Amino acid sequence: MAEIDGKTRVLGLLGNPVAHTFSPAIHNTVAEETGDNVVYVPFHVESEEQLGDAVRGAYALNLLGLNVTVPYKQAVIPYLKEIDPVAKAIGAVNTLVRVDGGYRGYNTDYKGLRRALEAEGVVIWKHDVVIVGAGGAARAAGFMCGEAGVKRLCILNRTVEKAEHLAADIKALFPKMEITALPLTQSAKIPFQKFLAIQCTKAGLAPNTNETPVASPLFFQKCELAYDCIYNPEETLFLKKVKEHGGTGWCGIGMLLYQGIAAYELWMDSHVPQRAVDLAREELLSFLRAGKRKNLVLVGFMGSGKTTVGKTLARLTGCPLVDCDEEIVRAAGKKVTEIFQEEGENGFRNRETALLKSLVASGKEGVIYSTGGGVVIREENRPLLKELGTVVLLDISAETVIARLGKDRTRPLLQGPDRTKKVRTLLVRRKDAYQQAADLEVDAGHGTPEEIAKNILARTGFAGAGRKDRRG
Ligand code: NAP
Repeated sequence: MAEIDGKTRVLGLLGNPVAHTFSPAIHNTVAEETGDNVVYVPFHVESEEQLGDAVRGAYALNLLGLNVTVPYKQAVIPYLKEIDPVAKAIGAVNTLVRVDGGYRGYNTDYKGLRRALEAEGVVIWKHDVVIVGAGGAARAAGFMCGEAGVKRLCILNRTVEKAEHLAADIKALFPKMEITALPLTQSAKIPFQKFLAIQCTKAGLAPNTNETPVASPLFFQKCELAYDCIYNPEETLFLKKVKEHGGTGWCGIGMLLYQGIAAYELWMDSHVPQRAVDLAREELLSFLRAGKRKNLVLVGFMGSGKTTVGKTLARLTGCPLVDCDEEIVRAAGKKVTEIFQEEGENGFRNRETALLKSLVASGKEGVIYSTGGGVVIREENRPLLKELGTVVLLDISAETVIARLGKDRTRPLLQGPDRTKKVRTLLVRRKDAYQQAADLEVDAGHGTPEEIAKNILARTGFAGAGRKDRRG
């Protein structure tokens, strides 16, 4: 990476929060590849009252350009010297470019979406387009359609008034476009035989990965191509349904990447070469996926070694090990066997789900979680586990379980005679759930706990709370 010297120009991000931003991953990678003497830094702006000072201060300090993120994309508009007409119509600005006396505001989300679609070979203007949603991303998508020359557009939204409002705003700037607004429930009335769908709602965003804004088979039969602005998960239920019906679809990573590239090009007034774009994509992907590496979550059948391997992982990484069953026991004030006896398996599972939700909400990083053997059974728990961290399945055979559990009689689900048969039946029954929950499977039937733990560290890249340092 180029050294910072007296000529280095500063680019930055204004927002709150900014601590987990992916933007430095894009811009500093591009700068490194192109050799541009710039550095990109996030700036935390505590409140809206300080936003004007932040923009004026940035100009006074000779900052070349800025991104603006949540919650200031609208609030920043009064502090601009100039505004791009499309950004004005969208009503949100995410990029500030230095001009004489201040900054000119742009919206690069719509440019990013357009380039992401074009990069996939989509000739946008040739399609009838259905936008699902009417929030910020949908506004960017709607104006992108106008700019790209789309002739017929249909906007579907849960709150139809917002779809109608957006339709009127787009029509004002692109009067030749035919635009229909419909409530989500009336997707059957979409006036097209085939269409390109742009999914702009929050339905399906992690951890609510079992949601989709539309479920009607007719919608998916007519949907030839689909772009889902969501990138976490990389394949939403919406995209899955598109593909099941023979359509082609992409997730929002390209939009995220190209909104950054478009901003960089505006700041530097030059074209970013393809190699720098490719490197920025790689860096962005590894940044987004590393977000999942914040914790390790061990799942597996009883006796698969979650505690032993967990302890070894904790020793090797210096991270704390949290045993979920122990947390449940502590909160309930009774043993697992007592919870099963008094509240039934369902009562125990309710406690387990509540614990997972609170662990996700805590936002803690650098923790190794050892979970109960049956945590994966509940469908609702699987996305929560993935949200918590990288989920590692300790894979094990029924024979090894029996050999390891020996005479252990504390396992509530293995009470009574014929334990071997019970283990086999439970393993078969849970196999799919384990595989759906896991990001990766590790053979836990062979090797020492240290070998298994080292294998996990090598395959996940987990390094506890320590993250790769980045400039900015
Ligand atoms: P927003 O302004 O808050 O709008 C949210 C939209 O989602 C509204 O249309 C809302 O409908 C709809 N919605 C929310 N929950 C829903 C549900 N359960 N079922 C159906 N509709 C639902 O949010 P936004 O900024 O537009 O972001 C929307 C999505 O796009 C987010 O998932 C975001 O991550 C993604 N995004 C991606 C990029 C990228 O670069 N890839 C950029 C921007 C946004 P109502 O109007 O009825 O409330």
